[in-house]
Amino acid sequence: MADASAECNIKVLCRFRPLNQSEIIRGDKFIPLFQGDDTVSIAGKSYVFDRVFPTNTTQEQVYNTCAKQIVKDVLGGYNGTIFAYGQTSSGKTHTMEGKLHDPHGMGIIPRIAEDIFNHIFAMDENLEFHIKVLTKTNLAVHEDKNRVPYVKGCTERFVSSPEEVMDIIDEGKANRHVAVTNMNEHSSRSHSIFLINIKQEHVETEQKLCGKLYLVDLAGSEKVSKTGAEGAVLDEAKNINKSLSSLGNVISALAEGTKTHVPYRDSKMTRILQDSLGGNCRTTMFICCSPSSYNDQETKSTLMFGQRAK
Ligand code: ADP
Ligand code: MG
Repeated sequence: MADASAECNIKVLCRFRPLNQSEIIRGDKFIPLFQGDDTVSIAGKSYVFDRVFPTNTTQEQVYNTCAKQIVKDVLGGYNGTIFAYGQTSSGKTHTMEGKLHDPHGMGIIPRIAEDIFNHIFAMDENLEFHIKVLTKTNLAVHEDKNRVPYVKGCTERFVSSPEEVMDIIDEGKANRHVAVTNMNEHSSRSHSIFLINIKQEHVETEQKLCGKLYLVDLAGSEKVSKTGAEGAVLDEAKNINKSLSSLGNVISALAEGTKTHVPYRDSKMTRILQDSLGGNCRTTMFICCSPSSYNDQETKSTLMFGQRAK
């Protein structure tokens, strides 16, 4: 049977943040022109996505439009991945995490945590849930004896309330802060991965259902040349750019749908995410952009990256 939903399993959404104070003071221009709810144009060229969120879009609107359904799907036994892609300071972390303990400012991850537990409390009491959360900042992938990839040195914990999930995000933030202050600014670019793994079992029938959701705040996509990096930092930056372009290749192969070869093995990230990308999985990519004329080149290349996935 043809899976009617398969063709729309990759969603690409574009979000523009507002101009910030220093951009306004510098006199930068606001360059995007929003048309309808799926198109943005920059310098006369239009880019169409599944959805475009203009600068005044609230965290709640973003969540309701695109992440809410994924929670239901993961509880229904599907795997999924939500990414945020864009240059540093384009709004990736704002979209994925936002202000953690602020009901309006909360981003996707804390809203998902709340939503999952709300669903569970309303479900059949004969279902037993095991929810595991894993966080990882500097992605290092290793292979076990059977060549199955795993992420080394991450925090992995069972959770039983949204508050416990929030605590883990807080700890992750604190760890990242320490890592950043110990390095120079350029080498603080890294991918951060948050995994929610849900297993449910019916106490009488022993029927099991598993679903997992990866939430990925990707490293800034800016070009290496712009950062003026050297030596080990330059190597690291090249690695990041290579992993981002491998991810682009995988998503674009999946979006085309006709390709038999999807190059999952080309990067650590895509190897880890393999069973949560494409096929029956729910994949959502946020393309985060700055609206400032100062960043127009990066914004164009970010929009092009998103277009490849369509
Ligand atoms: P990134 O993670 O891509 O480097 P951030 O998410 O940290 O960027 O965003 C940079 C700054 O812009 C932060 O201070 C953030 O609060 C602010 N910001 C980002 N997106 C928005 C938005 N949609 N509305 C308001 N402020 C935003
Ligand atoms: Mg960030």
